[in-house]
Parts: sequence; structure tokens; C-alpha cells
Amino acid sequence: MRIVIMGPPGVGKGTQSHQIVRDKGVTHISTGDILRIAIRRGTELGKKVQKVMNAGDLVSDELMMELIKHRLSEDDVKTGWLLDGFPRTAMQAAGLAELLDDIDQKVDMVLVISAPAEEIVRRLAGRITCRVCNEVMNLVGLGNETPKFCPFCGNAEDESRHKPALYQRADDTEETIRHRLEVFRKKTLPAAWILEEHYPLAEIDGMGTVEEVGKRIADVLE
Ligand code: AMP
Repeated sequence: MRIVIMGPPGVGKGTQSHQIVRDKGVTHISTGDILRIAIRRGTELGKKVQKVMNAGDLVSDELMMELIKHRLSEDDVKTGWLLDGFPRTAMQAAGLAELLDDIDQKVDMVLVISAPAEEIVRRLAGRITCRVCNEVMNLVGLGNETPKFCPFCGNAEDESRHKPALYQRADDTEETIRHRLEVFRKKTLPAAWILEEHYPLAEIDGMGTVEEVGKRIADVLE
């Protein structure tokens, strides 16, 4: 199965992606995760994208197309994939459709999750991520205190190297969140409508619990 998951930042794409990957046995490709790992490792790619990412802007289409072309040619994606964070622009959407056409593949379902802007700002301001398993959590659900270990994989804080188990993303400040929402509306929504010309697309209501949204997605994927 090949799935694309889209939606504004903080709508629950990452959380829902983990569930879909578990249910469908496909490989999760998160372009944001790939870029964040590159930044953490200090690679050439990481150095190129760090400033743009921290400001909540988009990395260039050329760079992203190159990255995704390479990723989709790797062995672990042969049995299916879930694209999370790509495409982000009309050009990337057209580029993906062309790339898949060339290798005679199709996207089985494009999922577009939505939620009101105020809900997104509220969720993102408290979002924290595990440094090891990348699971995403919210401080509200954790008593508003950052735990010293990850409740999902057990990764513990490394005090001697000042490395907390869970971290807040550099682009999760209120100002940057509002900018990223604007970028989503202007640049990424048009990408969804381009994909709709090629593949089945379902709009999913992102309000409610993780389980409720997950059920809506599972029903669509059935
Ligand atoms: P995400 O983790 O999907 O929210 O992505 C975090 C940031 O990575 C975005 O705000 C962009 O700066 C960058 N990024 C991720 N995927 C893409 C993409 N397909 N095109 C351009 N920039 C991207």
C-alpha cells in the first residue's frame, strides 16, 4: 500500500502515521524526520536546511525532490510506504506523480487531516518528541512537566551530556507555528488538490482523541 498523509503542522500526522505503519506494515517516510536527523548529525544536507527549517519555511523543491527520489529507490520501501510531510508544494506534488508514473506506481490513498488553527497552536505549544523513537507527546497529558524518560521506548535523560530524553522542536514556538500554518494554507493545500487529480483523496476530521481520528483513518483505508 502507498499512502500520503497531509495536513497542517500539529494536526496529528506523526502520531497517526505511527499507527498506520503498525497496522499496514508499510515504511514510514517523514521528510521532516530525515531533515532533523541530518541537522543533528551536522551533515552537508543538515547545514543547508537548518536555518530555513527553524524559521518554519520550506526547503527548496529541488533539494526535496532529490531527497525523495533517492529514498523511494531504497529496498525497504518496495513493499509499501507512507509519505508524511511530502509533498509540501504544487511542484513537489506534480513531481511525485511524474516520478511514480515513470515506475508504474500509484498512490492508493491521500489522507488530508484538518483542524482549526487555534486548536493547532494549543497542541503544538506543548508538543515534545522522543530523541530516540521519535514518538510525539503533549505536555498537557504529562502533567505539564517534561519526564526524564520516554514513556514509549524508555529512553532516559543523559544528564552528563545534557541530553534530555524528550525535546521541544526549535520550530514549535507560537510565532513560527502561525507562520507554518500560513505556509501550509498557501503552499501545501494546492499540493493536495494536484494529488487529487491523480489519486483517491479523503479528508479526515482531525478533532477528537487519537483513537477517534485513528478510527476515521482506518475506515477510509479499509
Ligand atoms: P515536519 O516535521 O513535516 O513538520 O517538517 C518540518 C520542517 O521540515 C518544515 O517546516 C520544512 O522546513 C521542512 N520540510 C519537511 N518536509 C518538507 C518538504 N516536503 N518540502 C519542504 N520543506 C520540508
